[in-house]
Formats: sequence, structure tokens, C-alpha cells
Amino acid sequence: MPDLACKLLVIGAGPGGYACAVRAGQLGVDTIIVEAARDGGTCLNIGCIPSKALIHAADEFARLTTYAMTGAMGLSAGTPSVDFARTGAWIAGVVDRLSHGVTGLLKKARVRSLRGEARFRDGKTIVVRGEGGEQRIRAENIVIATGSEPVPLSSVPFGGDVISSTDALSLAEIPRRMAVVGGGYIGLEIGTAYAKLGSAVTVVEAAERILPLWDSALTEPVARRLSMLGVEVLTSAKATGWSGSHLAVASADGQTSEIAADKVLVAVGRKPRTGSVGLADLRLSMSGPFIKIDDRCRTSMRGVYAVGDVTGEPMLAHRAIAQGEMVAGIIAGQPHAWDKVAIPAICFTDPEIVSVGLLPDEAKRQGIDAKVAEFPFKANGRALTTERDDGFVRVVARSDNGALLGVQAVGEGVSELSAAFALALEMGARLDDVGATVHAHPTRSEAFQEACLRALGMPLHI
Ligand code: FAD
Ligand code: NAD
Repeated sequence: MPDLACKLLVIGAGPGGYACAVRAGQLGVDTIIVEAARDGGTCLNIGCIPSKALIHAADEFARLTTYAMTGAMGLSAGTPSVDFARTGAWIAGVVDRLSHGVTGLLKKARVRSLRGEARFRDGKTIVVRGEGGEQRIRAENIVIATGSEPVPLSSVPFGGDVISSTDALSLAEIPRRMAVVGGGYIGLEIGTAYAKLGSAVTVVEAAERILPLWDSALTEPVARRLSMLGVEVLTSAKATGWSGSHLAVASADGQTSEIAADKVLVAVGRKPRTGSVGLADLRLSMSGPFIKIDDRCRTSMRGVYAVGDVTGEPMLAHRAIAQGEMVAGIIAGQPHAWDKVAIPAICFTDPEIVSVGLLPDEAKRQGIDAKVAEFPFKANGRALTTERDDGFVRVVARSDNGALLGVQAVGEGVSELSAAFALALEMGARLDDVGATVHAHPTRSEAFQEACLRALGMPLHI
């Protein structure tokens, strides 16, 4: 095959890579993107999208089950059942539609797409191994967007009934008993979904509590709900082995136990995918296992950029997209640099958790004199009308001028409030800006306004 040449070569068509390629194409940059699997990467194919679809299906089933059991609000339903093969087909349909959508966006932006595994030959040359053989490409700029993969656990290696999130999102049947190792994002999102679909779920978490990234006030409503759903949570505990039918667990106080399970989901974190692309030969500067980047996503090698999970925490799709888009602009000659104030983080548990900016403890550790106020959904009309008044919105603001430093929330459907929180932080809003903004009634967003008013000492509805 004759060699190809381009101004920009992107490796990986996940959120970081495809966003970079699409924007570069739109800006008139001659761009090639290489993807080893399917367009859309982890996020669209085996991550964000199928997991949220599974969570939605499980939520709907749980709602039907509640109506069948209690006839809440005077509504009733017959005993519901799940045809899980159809659920799986529906999820696959959503994924297909979005993956094809990405392929279409790349085409529309006149990006050339190649299928195959890309490997560095040198800092300006890539060799792609695909079905048609080997293709050499020379590029002025290369963006590494190869993403991440699950961290294996040596005591409970993947294989057979020990599964990763990828397998858990494409099971043929709902497991009767599921053990989940790791009470973080993936373990709790997927574990909760299967509990709602009828699995007996046990979570084994090494830290003292689930979701140790956040403070206990935020995670407590999730722990309560897990208990209501019958999920057993073992904290300060580690999985030490798998017999084929039982998971051996050792707790920090020396106790050991065994959990009977049909499937074991191991979700103890993700690591950057750097092996396949031949990074070792390139000798880029690293930051731990991740590729080290500066505020323009430049690596230590001129003309080589990196975006997304391969560059470290937070490993979130929207961060990858923002980085990819920025790099496209830089390569097109625009004077961009990373200056984001806030990257929202959302855990799609039940209830959901949102965190944007600083947590109260983080503000304290940075020596900032901050005030903290929360407004409970128990005092919010909309929350009461939807039968879910658990949770709250919390604001963290500078004591001297009221500038918002962080906003958090836990509650049903609060993921959709993340946009308002991020916008407020990105625009440098103060407590009185949000307090003086008319928020529509009845909505959960009023709790944001009320939390700000409460921090100012003048709440209206509490
Ligand atoms: P990826 O999406 O991993 O894409 C990398 C791509 O590069 C892949 O398609 C891969 O095939 C390709 N590739 C790798 N090596 C090569 C090579 N040598 N040659 C060619 N191609 C290559 N984030 C959120 O923000 N919200 C969520 O709700 C959310 N839910 C998640 C749920 C699960 C179960 C998982 C696993 C992750 C979730 N994430 C979520 C994280 C999110 O998926 C990642 O942050 C995001 O996909 C990172 O994008 P990326 O472009 O860096 O990498
Ligand atoms: P995680 O870091 O969120 O959680 C891993 C959990 O496993 C932690 O609580 C940790 O204390 C625990 N753990 C580690 N070793 C253990 C052991 N030996 N035994 C028991 N527990 C152990 O990681 P994850 O859930 O695998 O998710 C990976 C990444 O994917 C996340 O960090 C996030 O960046 C991304 N993700 C995001 C979303 C979202 O945005 N909603 C959803 C899923 C995944």
C-alpha cells in the first residue's frame, strides 16, 4: 500500500480522539483517524452509554415492581418480568446508533478513517495493521487518544465467571448472585442495576466506605438506598480468591468470609492503554502510568499530543472531549490552553451524586476560608411530587466575597443539575448571583438557589 501523509493523525476514536478529529476536520485540517475497534471508543461501546441504558432499564423494572407490590399513588401493575435478551438487544441498538453517528460525523468533517491497530515507528510515522495489511502514515502532528482498560486483580483474575465491566454490560442472563469487587463508579452503577433486576448483590470495597472519592454526607444516601435494595456492602474488605463458586474475602480486622456468587464483577479502577501503540520506544515523559502533558496536551515530544484517559484523572468522557477539541484548535493555529475551572463528576447511582469544583474538605486543605450550606430535597416541592425527597444540594463558597468554589448534590435526577453547577463555577458566579437568579418552580434546581441563599443567611423555604 502506498504511504499516506496528513497534517494530523489521531490514534483512537473514543470521545477524546473523535472529538479532536471532527473539530480538526471542521477547521480544515487534513486529518486521519485510526481506530482498532469501533468508533466511539469505551464510552459509546462498552462504557457510559450501555451502562446508562442498563441503569435505565433496571430503574423502569424496579418502578414496575414497586407498583406491583404497593400500588403507590393509587397506581397498580401486574407482576413484571424481564426478557433480558430483548433488553440486551435494545442496549445494543442504542450503542449502534451512536457509534454509526460518530462514523457519520467524521465523514461529514472530511476526516479519513482507517480501521486497524496503530503503532509508532518514530515520532512522525505510524504503521497501521489492518485487515488489508500494513499502512504507513507520515503525520506532522499525532494525537494519542488510546484510552484505558480495566485494572486486573491478581487474587481474582479475569476469566470464566470473573468479569469486567465490558462483560457485565453484555451478559446473556441476569445472574442470580453477583459479587462486585470495588465499590466505586462502575461497581455501584452496574451492581445497583443488577440488584434492581433481581440479582442478589454483594459489594466488597477495600476502603472504609463506598465511593471513597467523596465525603460521607454525599455517599450516605446511596449507602441507605443500597441497603433498601437488599445489596450487602462489605467495607474495609478485599477479595482474596475465587473458587469457581465462592469469593474469598478478608476484612481489615483479620476476619475471613466466603460469598457464593454466579458472577464476580471486578471493578477496582482503570489503567491507561499505552502498550499496543508502542510507547516504550518513543520514551515520552510519563506521570506515573499516564502520559505526561502540559496545558496544551503536548507531550514531551514535539508534535505529539495526548488526550483523554491515557493522560490520567479524572478519566471522564467529557474531559476527553474537551481536551480533544482544544488540541484540534491548537493544531489549526488557534491560541488555546487548558483553563477549565470545573469538570463535573457524576456517579449514576441511586440516588445520583454530582460534584463540581471543591468539596468542603478540599477547600479546607487548601487553606481557604470557606462557608458551606446545603438545602435538603425534603423541603423541595418537585422532589416531593416525584416521591424522592432524599438528598440535598450543597454549596461551598469563599467567606470573604461569596465566590462559589464547589457545588455538590445527591438525589434522584441531579445529574441534569450538573450543567447549572458547572456554568456557575466557570462564569465565576457568587452566592448572590445564583440567589438572585429566578429559578423555575417546581424544579429540583430551586434547591441550588436555596442553598446559595442559605449560605448568605437568608433562605426562603427552610
Ligand atoms: P476510549 O474511549 O477508551 O477510546 C480509546 C479508543 O482507542 C478505543 O476505541 C480503542 O479501541 C482505541 N485504540 C487503543 N489503542 C489503539 C491503537 N493502538 N490503534 C488504534 N486504536 C486504538 N465517563 C463519563 O464521563 N461518564 C460516564 O457515565 C461513564 N461511564 C463509564 C462506564 C463504564 C462501564 C466505563 C468502563 C467507563 C465509563 N466512563 C464514563 C469513562 C469513559 O468511558 C472514558 O473516560 C472515556 O471513554 C475516555 O475516552 P478516551 O477517548 O480517552 O478513550
Ligand atoms: P473507581 O476508582 O471508581 O473505584 C474503584 C474502587 O475499588 C475504589 O472504591 C477502591 O477503593 C476499590 N478497590 C481498589 N482495590 C480494591 C480491592 N483489591 N478490593 C476491593 N476494593 C478495591 O474505579 P472503577 O469503578 O473501576 O471505574 C474506573 C473509572 O472509570 C472511574 O474512575 C471513572 O473515571 C470512570 N467511570 C466513570 C463513570 C461516570 O462518570 N459515571 C462511570 C464508570 C466509570
